Amino acid sequence: MIKLHDKYFKPFISEGEIMAAIKKIADQVAVDYKKETPIFVGVLNGAFMFVSDFLKAYPYPCEVSFVRLSSYQGLTSTGIVETLLDVPENIEGRSVIILEDIIDTGRTVKKLIDLFSNTKVKEFKVATLFYKSEVYNGEYDIDYFGIKIEDKFIVGYGLDYNELGRNLRAVYQLNQKHMINLVL
Ligand code: 5GP
Repeated sequence: MIKLHDKYFKPFISEGEIMAAIKKIADQVAVDYKKETPIFVGVLNGAFMFVSDFLKAYPYPCEVSFVRLSSYQGLTSTGIVETLLDVPENIEGRSVIILEDIIDTGRTVKKLIDLFSNTKVKEFKVATLFYKSEVYNGEYDIDYFGIKIEDKFIVGYGLDYNELGRNLRAVYQLNQKHMINLVL
């Protein structure tokens, strides 16, 4: 169990499981894109570790760029998706694959689709490491995902709780039992 700010988190997904999930995604993308040079677009801040390990697992020529969006404050999605960077340059006629750390409600993905819909990309795909598939209510079908998870707040491997926890090598889940005990 670890404590970040006022909350306790329990081990949930090991470093080994994360690496296996990333290899699975990289292998699938490699099959689909080995004949071209795709541009991978990481969504900051949360996806920085995923992007790094994904690129190391991706065996063919590729480019990388980043956008920065944010929709979470504390433990809940605020619904405000803020764009802090514009789409990368020189993407016309190229295949763009978004690399997301986690997809929850799908608001961020929707914002990204809107952002890229005004561009002349050849193809637009979305890959996410963690996928809260029961919560996702977007119209867009997610193209690649690593691990489906239930609707509980997680930290680690790039994901934070009020900026803490991003440096953890594994993923931890909010310990709600402990929260109930604190209330009782
Ligand atoms: P969505 O826009 O799909 O609701 O949420 C996507 C964004 O919310 C992610 O990029 C991530 O920053 C944040 N997010 C969603 N679920 C979690 C979670 O369980 N833990 C953390 N730390 N962030 C999350």
